[in-house]
Amino acid sequence: MSMGSREEACVLKGRFAPSPTGRMHLGNVFCALLSWLSAKSQGGEWHLRIEDIDPDRSRRDFALLLMDDLQWLGLPWDGSVVWQSQRSDIYEHYLTKLHDMGLTYPCYCSRAEIMATQAPHETDGRIVYAGTCRGKKRDEMAENVPHAIRFTVPDEDITFVDGHYGQQCVNLAKHCGDYILRRKDGAWAYQLAVVLDDALMGITEVVRGRDLLLSTPQQLHLSATLGFTPPHYIHHPLLINESGQRLCKRDRSLDLSVLREKHKNPDEIVGFLAFLAGLLPSPTPLSPKELLPLFSWSHVPKTDITADAL
Ligand code: GLU
Ligand code: ZN
Repeated sequence: MSMGSREEACVLKGRFAPSPTGRMHLGNVFCALLSWLSAKSQGGEWHLRIEDIDPDRSRRDFALLLMDDLQWLGLPWDGSVVWQSQRSDIYEHYLTKLHDMGLTYPCYCSRAEIMATQAPHETDGRIVYAGTCRGKKRDEMAENVPHAIRFTVPDEDITFVDGHYGQQCVNLAKHCGDYILRRKDGAWAYQLAVVLDDALMGITEVVRGRDLLLSTPQQLHLSATLGFTPPHYIHHPLLINESGQRLCKRDRSLDLSVLREKHKNPDEIVGFLAFLAGLLPSPTPLSPKELLPLFSWSHVPKTDITADAL
């Protein structure tokens, strides 16, 4: 290994990995800001990956607007943008690898069958596949019938320490069961793409919303199965509305087309989010760069944050 690559291996690499399924909203900006501040305050790089693998929901115009919004907010990324829709060959290569390890199988179940047979565990509304197709013999499987590809998950507890929420322990079989790597319609699944891309892009720090906290054990396990060194994970609280619901793309009033019209100065939005994150005593307009010396995870609350007035 040359000196250059060894030095490179020491640089902290964060990332922001939005799905371009709508205009960016305040919750996405909160995630981008925390992830940018965390990486940059440690002298790291911050990369942008567009998670546009779902052909039914992803749109290029949303991705382009998202890039424009990040620049407008003062959140520039390092290097070139990675587009998941261009990485099919990579996903295919590793899917074959998992197949050769005997860890994948085709699943012919319909959604209705999956719901009817789902494992009787505490799932918080998640669907845990019962493993119906796991034991099927080769001759029962018709190659030409559309099928999903599932990953065989062991009945194993995965323990890890989240950078903000501390020690976590999740049983893979109970929590997610054998999950999908490639959908019936041929689309790649988020869990496979995210693990491969974080590893192959050399990402060392993942900052994202706590809604993905319980996906982390799955990703750690898949990463270890493929022999990768996983990133350090830091999850942040979610922004919620007055009725306690997570902000989402349907809350039009908080999307950036509306916010940019209302607040001509991006620092007003950034300062408001920094206040919500516990970095400022009051919502004072400040740029991401000006916030760098004030950033510490120790100020960020753990409970979800109501974002009402902006
Ligand atoms: N693309 C995912 C989303 O927008 C985020 C994935 C991640 O940060 O791991 O929800
Ligand atoms: Zn099945």
